[in-house]
Amino acid sequence: MINTISEIKRKFDVNEVRKDFPILTRMVNDKPLVYLDNAATSQKPQVVINALTNYYTYDNANIHRGLYFLSELATEQYEDARLKVKEFINALSTSEVIFVKGTTEGINLLASSLCRAKFFNEGDEVIVSNMEHHANIVPWQLMGDRKKIKLSVIPINDDGELDLDAFEKMINPKTKLVSVVHISNSLGTINPVKKIIDIAHSKNVPVLLDGAQAVPHCKVDVQDLDADFYAFSGHKVFGPTGIGVLYGKAEYLEMMPPYQGGGDMIRTVTFEKTTFDDIPRKFEAGTPNIAGGIGLGAAIDYLNQFDRKELAEYENMLLDYATKKLSEIEGLRIIGKAKEKASVISFVIEGIHPYDIGTLIDTDGIAIRTGHHCTQPIMQRYNLPATSRASFAFYNTFEEIDKLVAGVLKVKKMFS
Ligand code: PLP
Repeated sequence: MINTISEIKRKFDVNEVRKDFPILTRMVNDKPLVYLDNAATSQKPQVVINALTNYYTYDNANIHRGLYFLSELATEQYEDARLKVKEFINALSTSEVIFVKGTTEGINLLASSLCRAKFFNEGDEVIVSNMEHHANIVPWQLMGDRKKIKLSVIPINDDGELDLDAFEKMINPKTKLVSVVHISNSLGTINPVKKIIDIAHSKNVPVLLDGAQAVPHCKVDVQDLDADFYAFSGHKVFGPTGIGVLYGKAEYLEMMPPYQGGGDMIRTVTFEKTTFDDIPRKFEAGTPNIAGGIGLGAAIDYLNQFDRKELAEYENMLLDYATKKLSEIEGLRIIGKAKEKASVISFVIEGIHPYDIGTLIDTDGIAIRTGHHCTQPIMQRYNLPATSRASFAFYNTFEEIDKLVAGVLKVKKMFS
């Protein structure tokens, strides 16, 4: 049975919402957990945990191949999840939704398949930005080793905003693809992706968006954006790990060869020749993450109860509050001050290494991220080895931000 999106939305109440996430009641170092590392991975509501448990407890069977009750039930649930994803991102068809392990695999799939399709010639360029996650740099370099693809990098200003004039000038006849992050995981910048796509399309260049951080924070409509490809990870959007999505326009997916070979992606196999299944199945070799797909479907159902705008507005209030409070701390510098920001704050404090901040506030049960956040080039841009990063989800509270600020002040005092 397919769940359609309910028109009657559940009123957002953070105290009620927190009850949906069992982990939020646990203690860490004898203190209530303050989980502020949502950009790395989000916590899971009980309904997602139940979906995984139910599948393994009652419905476990392999999909697509069995003609018996359980296999058909598992197939129905898995394909139902694909339909939920299609509606969630407003793809035109479920055939445009490829299940992968996550954003990283989605981008690797695209890079590998485009190379095999001879989409790139020697010396061709892929435009990325200075704020990419390594997942949107390394796959192109791996392919570049084989094909000599050059990466051109859109520069940013000191606030962490892309230089769109520079971008427009960078596009040239060698540019084959623009591949940029929708929301930066280390700066929080929300990039003007619709504008980027318009500019690229005006020069007939397709665009991949890395939506790992965007899908948890805002409603993504791939048709409205006119994105050619869009990748995201289930675990950052309140779903399980090991499942994600690569969306691609059918016109591209049809011409792209498979990424991996094996069972489930074929139509006929002889020792001389194999013919492949239709999209998206030709990209999904082997037994997939069935439980993960079903769990992602449950996460989408969970999110669909709410008005996403209401969740985003609440997260923005958390961001504004945290920005104000952290900025009041002497010697603390926020890295990434874009006008359009999602709820991610990177910061450094003069004279204190981010690792010390992260380790010491953990003793108060506060989980933040420290390091380069898999974005070493942006650290080089700001001449920093690392930052501390707090990232919020709609289940976080203003009191948790107060605890973060108190924790940081305590660390500062220890070092003074
Ligand atoms: N892109 C961005 C912007 C990210 O923040 C991340 C993860 O932090 C990734 C890509 C990679 O996601 P995954 O590790 O789930 O494949």
